[in-house]
Amino acid sequence: MRMAFTVDVEDWFCSPDLTLSEWEGHEIRLEKPVHQILDLLDENAATGTFFALGWIAERRPDLIKEIHRRGHEIASHGYSHRLVYQQSPQEFKQDIRMSKDILENIIGSKVNGYRAPCFSMTDWGLDLLIEEGFTYDSSLIPNTFNKLYAKFDLPASDALPFRIRDGLWEVPLPVYRVSGVHVPWGGGGYFRIYPYRLFSLGARSIIRKRNSFVFYIHPYDLDPHQPRIFNTSKLNSIRRYSGLDAAYDKLKALLADYSCMSISRYCPQIGGKAQNERKNRNYS
Ligand SMILES: [Zn+2]
Repeated sequence: MRMAFTVDVEDWFCSPDLTLSEWEGHEIRLEKPVHQILDLLDENAATGTFFALGWIAERRPDLIKEIHRRGHEIASHGYSHRLVYQQSPQEFKQDIRMSKDILENIIGSKVNGYRAPCFSMTDWGLDLLIEEGFTYDSSLIPNTFNKLYAKFDLPASDALPFRIRDGLWEVPLPVYRVSGVHVPWGGGGYFRIYPYRLFSLGARSIIRKRNSFVFYIHPYDLDPHQPRIFNTSKLNSIRRYSGLDAAYDKLKALLADYSCMSISRYCPQIGGKAQNERKNRNYS
């Protein structure tokens, strides 16, 4: 079974709850987990799309170059990880332009894809993505629970990539539907919290029904020793820090069980000029 594999390249402190000046001085820890992910992808002859923060790319350009050199797609996660609907349109435009410029200068190729911090996309944000030259967005989860996420009325085929605007594709994140409730099932904290067998059963069911699945993970999901500054409530603590110890083994199992590939390979219909990515072993 095939799935798109994506990584949101941000570090353990890159939260919209902290300002950029508060980020300064925190230890950058993501290089080790990013290399773990790259090695697992290599071992499985798989590829991925890495949605990188401009702020991280400025500080670790060699890491972005390496991800690109090792055959993966580089896309944008914005510059500052501020929620889209907490920015003015002008601020958002500047944020996505900066990140795109930084990433394109580092890799020397066009960046086509964007993912909003905490999936916080807005209607006007989609229009600005087109103006700034993006060809696809991967920010929407038609879920029932998480209030941070954008609220969008998606079409019935909402797990499949679809044209959300003239000139812009949407590649939504998956949900598991049960009794009218949409449970997020794409990865991140949900991947850490759900037992692997349950996650995989859900993923298979979604792929069978919808023929589409976009997985995502953060480097900090694989970092059990990260400083724990966000356990301000029991819920926060569970969301951020549950299952860190087992996440690497679960990711290893996922990459062995599924044929994983970048969004540009998984959804070739979204177009855009490819970044000379490596071919997947099982890709045809
Ligand atoms: Zn993020």
